[in-house]
Amino acid sequence: MAIDHDILISGGGVAGLTAAALFGTAGFSVLLCDPTPPVTSGDDEAADLRTTALLQPARDLLEESGLWSRLAPHAAPLQVMRIVDAGGEIAEPRVSREFDASEITSGPFGWNLPNWLLRREMVARLSELDTVTFRPGIATTTLLTREREAIVGLDDGTRVRCRLVIAADGRTSPMREAAGISVSTRRYGQKALAFAVTHPPPHDNVSTEVHRTGGPFTLVPLPDRDGMPCSAVVWMEDGVEALRLATLPVPAFESAMMERSCGLFGPLTLATRRTLWPIITQVAERMSGERLALIAEAAHVVPPIGAQGLNMSLGDLRALRDLAVARPEGLGDRQMMETYHRSRHPEVKLRAAGIDALNRASQLSARPLRDLRAAGLSALYGAAPVRRMLMQMGLGARDAS
Ligand SMILES: Cc1cc2nc3c(=O)[nH]c(=O)nc-3n(C[C@H](O)[C@H](O)[C@H](O)COP(=O)(O)OP(=O)(O)OC[C@H]3O[C@@H](n4cnc5c(N)ncnc54)[C@H](O)[C@@H]3O)c2cc1C
Repeated sequence: MAIDHDILISGGGVAGLTAAALFGTAGFSVLLCDPTPPVTSGDDEAADLRTTALLQPARDLLEESGLWSRLAPHAAPLQVMRIVDAGGEIAEPRVSREFDASEITSGPFGWNLPNWLLRREMVARLSELDTVTFRPGIATTTLLTREREAIVGLDDGTRVRCRLVIAADGRTSPMREAAGISVSTRRYGQKALAFAVTHPPPHDNVSTEVHRTGGPFTLVPLPDRDGMPCSAVVWMEDGVEALRLATLPVPAFESAMMERSCGLFGPLTLATRRTLWPIITQVAERMSGERLALIAEAAHVVPPIGAQGLNMSLGDLRALRDLAVARPEGLGDRQMMETYHRSRHPEVKLRAAGIDALNRASQLSARPLRDLRAAGLSALYGAAPVRRMLMQMGLGARDAS
């Protein structure tokens, strides 16, 4: 029987929407399904208030997907990364290190954008592509694969034949589970609060990460809001404390933020709702199965440190797209799926292990260990070659020499 689409993408989060734009632009016929229609306004109660810092290498891929020209006018550049240790007796900066993107590249490290806005622009891009069929409100339910094709059952009772299934259906990926691919998961008893704040001084395109206990408190630049400088905040804390903070009355929450940010941006005013995200590290045992490729959180979940999550996902997509374009007649076959797994899995495991170590260092609450962290930060970031290497790794460069 004839196939219905070259590619079925299960999951229309930011990763699945990007995948549809990328493969649709490359000329493949794509069906994208998601049971939850995308929320494309920041004022909607269900809006994803996280922001995504897209690092330099992401830009090329977004350009090739026809997305960058839509996103650029809304993007806040990230020129300087500042890391502050405030693990002493009182909440004040002890060690502060700044890394300027100009040390390694001509542009900024990357650009920050709200997730709801990414969704809005991505959905608009898909409507321009006659290669892409987007079916919001429809879930994938079953997966049957053979040597030559995959058959995916949808919850409206229909079945779709395709050559490649891309699972972009999140950390509990139904397509991954249907294929019987297991995951290893590390839990930290930790949650992240995500929201936006306004503050009196300008952020000057500096992203600031403050370490004390419980996890980092990170401010990432956003465009001005109501004429005030604005930043996105990710505040990681032990779970119980995070829940308490999430329900504090706003004035008490604002003074807790002022203390935790060491007053670096003056008084912080809460500009949005607070949303809570559980923090885990999770890596699938394989990146592929028969006629199936796992991408993004279906394949790897990492704590939100160093903006790695979606940027790793775009690395998955780049690898998949390059393989598909190099040998379109082999789309989804055993050779392509095996090459994809082997090209991505080692890097994904390495990055997940690195971010896990950073997160555990940031959670430390015992004083001597906190002192050690501050000394380490000071020594490590002092030497220029080490700084350059770390910054290049942050950008996803393979060769950090
Ligand atoms: C607080 C926080 C801050 C972050 N900041 C950054 C950052 O600055 N930079 C960065 O790179 N990353 C960041 N990340 C990570 C990034 O947000 C994620 O990697 C990314 O959003 C995950 O996208 P996803 O599309 O894989 O998953 P999801 O957004 O979970 O999307 C999965 C989709 O699959 C759908 N789905 C579920 N079941 C089915 C089904 N049966 N059929 C079809 N569809 C289905 C769901 O409805 C959902 O829309 C952050 C994460 C957190 C928690």
